[in-house]
Amino acid sequence: MYELADQTWRLRPRRMPWAIADQAATRIAEHIHAHSLAHVTLILHGGEPLLAGPDLIAHVVTAVREAAGPRVRVDVSLQTNGVGLDAEYLRLFDTLNIRVGVSLDGDAAAHDRHRRYRNGRGSYPAVVAALERLAAGPYRHVFGGLLCTIDVRNDPVATYEALLQVNPPMIDLLLPHGTWTTPPPERVPGSPKTPYADWLIAVFDRWFDAPRQETRIRLFEEIMYLLVGGASATEAVGLSPVSVLVIETDGSIEQSDMLKSAYHGAPWTGLHVTRDPFDAALLLPSVVARQIGVKALATECRSCRIRQVCGGGLYPHRYRSGSGFANPSVYCPDLFRLITHIRQAMVAGIATRVAGRR
Ligand code: SF4
Repeated sequence: MYELADQTWRLRPRRMPWAIADQAATRIAEHIHAHSLAHVTLILHGGEPLLAGPDLIAHVVTAVREAAGPRVRVDVSLQTNGVGLDAEYLRLFDTLNIRVGVSLDGDAAAHDRHRRYRNGRGSYPAVVAALERLAAGPYRHVFGGLLCTIDVRNDPVATYEALLQVNPPMIDLLLPHGTWTTPPPERVPGSPKTPYADWLIAVFDRWFDAPRQETRIRLFEEIMYLLVGGASATEAVGLSPVSVLVIETDGSIEQSDMLKSAYHGAPWTGLHVTRDPFDAALLLPSVVARQIGVKALATECRSCRIRQVCGGGLYPHRYRSGSGFANPSVYCPDLFRLITHIRQAMVAGIATRVAGRR
């Protein structure tokens, strides 16, 4: 978030004050009870959430669960770069049942391309050591999975196989943030070339054709589920209404922090945990646009034959200075090719199975 277009982090505390954490817990409980929810998900995110320290993390999680009450399930997860994931944190996550996702971009060369300390040294050895403690020991049950940001300069299959080395239960493959105004690396807006689809298809084929399932890959599973008529559970694809709000360290209520890639102030709502219930966000035009499915898509997307599956792609990826978010994804050709390929692979897989039964 420090490198994205939105720079409001500069004006905010680095750590959430305990009083704001308590107010956030009260708001979450208010929302749970107003809608009679039996289950909510709390995601601890950064920056780097481990820099908050174990005391604050324990306080936030305990405060939310106590405010929610014993009949409500509060699933808690945390996304970390893994560098500070030591034995104390693992014991805490075990005690509080917090699922941990770790960012890992592939093998040492791939990972250290972007993830370096200030002195230039790569963080790969520290992250892999943390993953060994997390994945192979008594804390395996809190291992949520890996987050890998795609860099098309890295070999796709080698990247996937490097991630498999730590035996993750799930892998999230993340397209780099970018817009029509600030395109992602190697993505020339409007070009029919599909560097990201080419990369993802190589991983998909390696994953889909494996003799046994080695791990789950959320993006592929979501697309497959959508192709058979399901609804998406992530913002990356599909037309499901957005169901995430962010509480910043100063108590501001914002939209998904992925919007930070669009422009300075893009996630802003003007709401705050000390004044406003979460439902107030539903009245904001920018939130309404993400609740009304196909009606909010660009003209090209509304007439696209895979719109129910693609959904115009991730909302920030549609941004273009001057026309806002009423555009196809800057990844449009990649998404079209990837989804078409997955559909063909599924059909071929079913045909092979049916033929084998005759
Ligand atoms: S493939 Fe392109 S045109 Fe079709 S829904 Fe996705 S972004 Fe829109």
